[in-house]
Amino acid sequence: MNSSWLTESEIAEYAHLSENITQQCNCSKQTFDAWESLPVTFPEEQLERKGAVTAPSDKEATVREYHPRGTNYWSSDAPIALHYFPANRSDVWQCKACKRCFLRYTEFGGYYIDKRIRALRASLLFAGPYMDEDVTS
Ligand SMILES: [Zn+2]
Repeated sequence: MNSSWLTESEIAEYAHLSENITQQCNCSKQTFDAWESLPVTFPEEQLERKGAVTAPSDKEATVREYHPRGTNYWSSDAPIALHYFPANRSDVWQCKACKRCFLRYTEFGGYYIDKRIRALRASLLFAGPYMDEDVTS
């Protein structure tokens, strides 16, 4: 049975798998090391949704980010912290052609809706729990 969200170990497996893929693909024209707006040229139809990062029971997921080493939202080396924003709002998607995996979520700004995408990379994965303390500095 295919649940609608993933366990941390399942996400880690996808991340390890994805990080070691080197073959060129329509989905790899950009590296998506950092969060980016989904390019209009991106082959969205090649992606298959694998599941959400956060269980639906956790609707009050934090909007705080996790940057213990001075990174920010747009940093290519910002942790992919599963219990923090925006990973906690994301779904894992996998390319059917090359098996690369991505995180995707929709950013709701005051006057816009923006689809964002970032490569799922094991080396940046942080699965530690959310802690209600200042971790931005
Ligand atoms: Zn691909």
